[in-house]
Amino acid sequence: MKAIGVVRSRPGGLVQPGQSGAVAEVVIDRSLAVALDGLDDFSHIIVVYWMHQAAPDGLSLKVHPHGRREYPLVGLFATRSPYRPNPVGVVMVRLIERRKNILVVEGLDALNGTPVIDIKPYIPQGDSVADAAVPPWIGEYYRVNRKLREIYRRLVDCYGPQHWWPADGPFEMMVGAILTQSAAWRNVEKAIANLRAGRLLLPQALRRLPTAELAGLIRPCGYYNAKALKLKYLAQWLGEACGDDLEKLFAVDTAALRRELLSVHGVGEETADSILLYAAKKPVFVIDAYTRRIIDRLGMTPRAKGYAAYQSFFMDNLPADCGMFQEYHALLVRLAKEVCRRRPLCRSCCLGDICPSRTGCWA
Ligand code: SF4
Repeated sequence: MKAIGVVRSRPGGLVQPGQSGAVAEVVIDRSLAVALDGLDDFSHIIVVYWMHQAAPDGLSLKVHPHGRREYPLVGLFATRSPYRPNPVGVVMVRLIERRKNILVVEGLDALNGTPVIDIKPYIPQGDSVADAAVPPWIGEYYRVNRKLREIYRRLVDCYGPQHWWPADGPFEMMVGAILTQSAAWRNVEKAIANLRAGRLLLPQALRRLPTAELAGLIRPCGYYNAKALKLKYLAQWLGEACGDDLEKLFAVDTAALRRELLSVHGVGEETADSILLYAAKKPVFVIDAYTRRIIDRLGMTPRAKGYAAYQSFFMDNLPADCGMFQEYHALLVRLAKEVCRRRPLCRSCCLGDICPSRTGCWA
């Protein structure tokens, strides 16, 4: 068996807000391009691919679907887990267009560089079954999955792309992630403007700057003494961990980088995940108080408590799509600030008809 092509996707780059999945390209070997003739008469195709990065330490023959303990323990072959003896993925996607040997598709949640081993047309007369039976957990999974996608679609329709994180480069983003702790963004902007004016938005510049002077510059965003110390620790860590080379730092595996970030004084889970998502462009969902409030009001509170449970709720039910996660988080913040406030303005909410907590006369 040999690959016939490769998946080409850019995290955050090709995602179209509001679409149900990431837009990616399947680049077929040029020598096989003629074998695609006629495929563009089909609206949907089946992509068979090799999940080359699915490399578990050991193989479990019984698993909880999607890693969720509330789902029953079932045999590996009763799931779509990528960790299987032959990590073959099969997905039906929408064919947007064919350009010679390139297929532009929507809904292919495969990593950039994934080898593709076959392409088939989707034929509803033969490939769909009207009376197929599935276990109850499948229904629960797709119910949540559909609702999360519907919420995203409505937020995009209502507010449009948010273009987060507003920063000039990844280091400025990291600084902003610390400064925004318990602070309004307009005040963070003033502090960042002070640092920019002093040409201090560089790790080495922050290392050299006396802490008291740094505290004075970031005073507008509050807790300035504590935050000055946090920035000094961050700059110190960057020098030691990667010689201030952020590209090298962000090449590290997501779980290891998260552990490293959490070891830095002043970096908690929300800050670490913001840095992973917006600076390192890793598909990690950021949880904050706004997100919890909205999810709780929508009647979707996870069964377990805490940050990790809310994060898993999103990450287990949505494709690992960095661009979508960036927009989704930014849109939830916008909704919480403008409408789903402590005292919610449900009459102006685009989620009103699907929210069990809506108050007042909603229309
Ligand atoms: S309907 Fe009201 S409570 Fe529900 S998400 Fe919207 S603003 Fe929040």
